[in-house]
Amino acid sequence: MDIRVSNRLAQLPPYLFVEIDRKKREAIARGVDIINLGIGDPDRPTPSFIIEALKSAAEKPSNHRYPESEGLLSFREAVAEWYKNRFGVGLDPRKEIISLIGAKEGIGHLPLALVNPGEVVLIPDPAYPVYQAGTIFAGAQPFFMPLLRENGFLPDLDAIPSDVAARARLMFLNYPNNPTGAVASREYFQKVVEFALRHNIIVAHDNTYSEITYDGYQPTSFLSVEGAREVGIEFHSLSKTFNMTGWRIGFVAGRAEVVDALRSLKSNLDSGAFQAVQDAGVVALANAAAVVQENSKVYQERRDILVGGLRKMGLDVEFPRATFYVWPAVPSGHTSASFVSSLIEQAGVVCTPGNGFGRSGEGYVRMALTESADRLREAVERIGNMLSCVA
Ligand SMILES: *Cc1c(COP(=O)(O)O)cnc(C)c1O
Repeated sequence: MDIRVSNRLAQLPPYLFVEIDRKKREAIARGVDIINLGIGDPDRPTPSFIIEALKSAAEKPSNHRYPESEGLLSFREAVAEWYKNRFGVGLDPRKEIISLIGAKEGIGHLPLALVNPGEVVLIPDPAYPVYQAGTIFAGAQPFFMPLLRENGFLPDLDAIPSDVAARARLMFLNYPNNPTGAVASREYFQKVVEFALRHNIIVAHDNTYSEITYDGYQPTSFLSVEGAREVGIEFHSLSKTFNMTGWRIGFVAGRAEVVDALRSLKSNLDSGAFQAVQDAGVVALANAAAVVQENSKVYQERRDILVGGLRKMGLDVEFPRATFYVWPAVPSGHTSASFVSSLIEQAGVVCTPGNGFGRSGEGYVRMALTESADRLREAVERIGNMLSCVA
């Protein structure tokens, strides 16, 4: 019997990392000591007070039963409290917040809850790949908004054709941004709200990186901008903020009808996040400030080593103000793919080609600050040797 996959699965863009994965495996087989800057997954452990909270919550028999897909009220209340303290946004935990099994889960499912086949979803390019995957799974049509350096890696809303805007139901945005490290101002968010109101488009802002910031920069919440709570929702995750990627816990907040549509969809697909993880999440959110400060300090030192080192050797790269990503332009004569290949083969450094996040990422690579300061110093030295050999 032949097995074929659905068109929607076959329609996903090709996996661009096959060649890179092969080169990485070959280098490892040759005994190369690989420095992996390819993965957006914190290397440091979850703070121990959160682990302790999970341990005691795991002992409670009430946590062994099915959760509700919208999450524990106590978790949603902790989210509301955190939002109020952190962003000055007051949310109703009963109507405007639900838990997610990681932000990825909510993002991937959102188009299924909101968008009909043939309708358009506006997606940044380059971007976190799940916006596109969720759109394709819903039978909707992605329209890519290029993130260009000359626009500060923000979509140019005026460049969206009016017939596309008319058919668009949903727009994904993500600031602080993966993969570019760019940030958005309140003024930009204000323009997004006006655009969304004019064209009747729901905005889904992904604020996963709001707590990994440098030089005192404080990202805002999209929901804190006037009118945003009418047009949009915001995704958040405990993954990056608390080094909890493996725990699978996140949440979404904003316009009640949109949150409820996702809740309704989810209630047919999953039964929510393990309640003990939610209990631990409550403890994490209540003690966020100290963790956030410590994390950002660690990443800032790493950022300064990597970006400072790359700039010294003449690479064209900015110091990001947030996220743990660095987004250098490739040296002239290189494509994203050829530079990534050289880095693996000549320096033993793995990073991600920018075009793996979309066509407009060509000409860049993404490096994640998820290795120690010492390993990043080593990476800088090896890349420096590699580039001076070529020159
Ligand atoms: C890591 C990441 C997520 C996913 O977070 P989870 O809560 O672990 O699913 C979502 N959006 C962006 C942009 C990310 O980088």
